[in-house]
Amino acid sequence: KLPNIAVIGAGIAGLSCAAKLKEFGYAVEIFDKSRGTSGRMSTRRGEGWAADHGAQYFTARDPRFIKEVERWIQAEVLSLWQPHLKVYEEGHWRDSGSQDKRYVGIPEMTSPGKYIASNLSVRLNTTINQIERRADGWHIHSAESGEIPAIYDYVLIAVPAPQAEALAASHDQRIKNLAQSVHMQACWTVMARFEKKMDLPYDAAFINHERLSWICRNNSKPERVGLESWVIHATPQWSQKNVELTAEEATAELLRSAKSIGFDCQGAQTSAQRWRYASGSLDPSPVCHLSIEAHLGLCGDWLNGGRVEGAWLSGLELAHRLHLSHSSP
Ligand code: FAD
Repeated sequence: KLPNIAVIGAGIAGLSCAAKLKEFGYAVEIFDKSRGTSGRMSTRRGEGWAADHGAQYFTARDPRFIKEVERWIQAEVLSLWQPHLKVYEEGHWRDSGSQDKRYVGIPEMTSPGKYIASNLSVRLNTTINQIERRADGWHIHSAESGEIPAIYDYVLIAVPAPQAEALAASHDQRIKNLAQSVHMQACWTVMARFEKKMDLPYDAAFINHERLSWICRNNSKPERVGLESWVIHATPQWSQKNVELTAEEATAELLRSAKSIGFDCQGAQTSAQRWRYASGSLDPSPVCHLSIEAHLGLCGDWLNGGRVEGAWLSGLELAHRLHLSHSSP
């Protein structure tokens, strides 16, 4: 009998892993603490507006991921995005010469994740706060409803490092070491809505500034509707240093910085998001980790480059390793 598997985290890594395992014939159940799937490939929705406030776009280089990207395009959950892209550096603006192909979910960033999840068993609003290995297998507990009434042969953890450490460090020394070796940094994000289209000569910009790293007109992405909305990301360094500011304080600081480089949010409605574990990854990349002995696995962006493509590949690789360990004599 093929093992019964629990995947914790329905970000793109957990989803990719679960989808592959299901394809191999395993029974898989995914748990996520949020209201929706897709993790940091996320979209904030408000009255008359929406904005991708986590991952902004992604690139595809590995042939396996390129194939998946083509499948998502076919399924109409992904599209190329060709923004007018600028770079701000040392007080000057210039056009970006980058020829990268940039992809975005349509109609929003969560769409590819939702598409994968539609074929899987996912339990949302379920924060796993304890995993416990007994003689008959893994028992898992959630903050919302206590012990989950099922027994799993494997638990695969697909969450950021600090959260993985909290769950699994006491069960597997390697997970503890990996999680403690990476420094995941925060990202303060401000979303601003405008009644009128902003008259600016770019749709998005890489900002080399001590506080700001990225500004983007969300409506320049394909199939976006609603009010003109912009997303501003602070640098990891500034965000980490100021992670305990209130949303109002962080917003005020970042809007002041934005104004100083010509992006004036006067009169705009704003919202802010504090990503506690936005970015960070191990170097060299272990890609993923599987302990046959502990019946525990680990995948996620931080094990493989810290981006969407790496996260998806990390999940895929974990599924292959687990399957290989069961199909070889
Ligand atoms: P996540 O997406 O974080 O998924 C983990 C999931 O686990 C989450 O859904 C979470 O709710 C859940 N979870 C955590 N703990 C528990 C628990 N105890 N119980 C149950 N569920 C739990 N990448 C790019 O390629 N391009 C970009 O432009 C880009 N920009 C970014 C900008 C920002 C602000 C941020 C935050 C990230 C950005 N990234 C970007 C990175 C990209 O979003 C991630 O690399 C990728 O989405 C990570 O996927 P993941 O599945 O590894 O983790």
